[in-house]
Amino acid sequence: MRITCYLKTYPCPDKPGRILLVATRRCSVLELSTELWNRMRDGSDLSRNERETFIRLGVLVSDRDAEREEMRATFETINRTSRHLEISVTLTLECNLACPYCYEAPFRGRYVMSPETADLLIQRLRECMADGMDVTVDFYGGEALMRLDLLRMIAARLQDAATRCAVAFDFNLFTNGVLLTRCVVKELLPLGLKAVRLTIDGPPDIHNVQRPFISGQGSFAVIMANLRDIHTLVPVDLGGNYTRENYQRFPELLDLFVEQGIEPARMKAISFSPVMPRADGSVAGDFGSTCACTAE
Ligand code: SF4
Repeated sequence: MRITCYLKTYPCPDKPGRILLVATRRCSVLELSTELWNRMRDGSDLSRNERETFIRLGVLVSDRDAEREEMRATFETINRTSRHLEISVTLTLECNLACPYCYEAPFRGRYVMSPETADLLIQRLRECMADGMDVTVDFYGGEALMRLDLLRMIAARLQDAATRCAVAFDFNLFTNGVLLTRCVVKELLPLGLKAVRLTIDGPPDIHNVQRPFISGQGSFAVIMANLRDIHTLVPVDLGGNYTRENYQRFPELLDLFVEQGIEPARMKAISFSPVMPRADGSVAGDFGSTCACTAE
């Protein structure tokens, strides 16, 4: 038996002599002694019970090449048999914020989807709909709402096509929340808006440093006011980015929601992630330097 290709290991500094394994293909999480881990890596003798457990949890496999091939074929099979197409559409790479950690900073700028590209997108999705596929679009940026006109036009035409093909069409909106007013949400709901994904990076003193306007001013108050106004109209998937220095302060944000009359329980989901490194690797937080062990 061999160790799976799909395995991540994490140290447990709070538990000397222990290690955390995540078998990503099986989504198994195991904590075990480093002594047992070393025995497994060396190919030394494992007891029958140990071997069976590691096989059951996807840590040991008989053939790594076959496992890779199975994974590759899985995606092909899913793509071939699915009747639901989910697609991300980047409307623009412009943004009204200037987050210092912005993943897209190395290539962000005044780039907007051209009318010709929008037409090609609509044409391709109409073909899929004519083939009987339901379509979900994730509108993305930069800041997608800086091109509300384009979003509105694409969504309206796709909704029209979906009605004629008797399939479903809806869309999610990825936004920083600055332009997400009640009026905009009310306008987009009939066009197929299903959910909104927006980002708040913790309480104001943290968020305003991590997600300022281009002018340098903080964006917390504007986004919070918009969230308060729209959270009963549309499901909101709230995300936030943390660093090693500030992850412990996220619960304060939930208290602020309650103070503002926003019930955290009304959110579709709340999830926080470590700050991503920039696309060119030039900046800040990376997966390795943020939440990379069980102590965090
Ligand atoms: S809101 Fe998003 S796209 Fe805009 S600067 Fe921040 S991270 Fe980048």
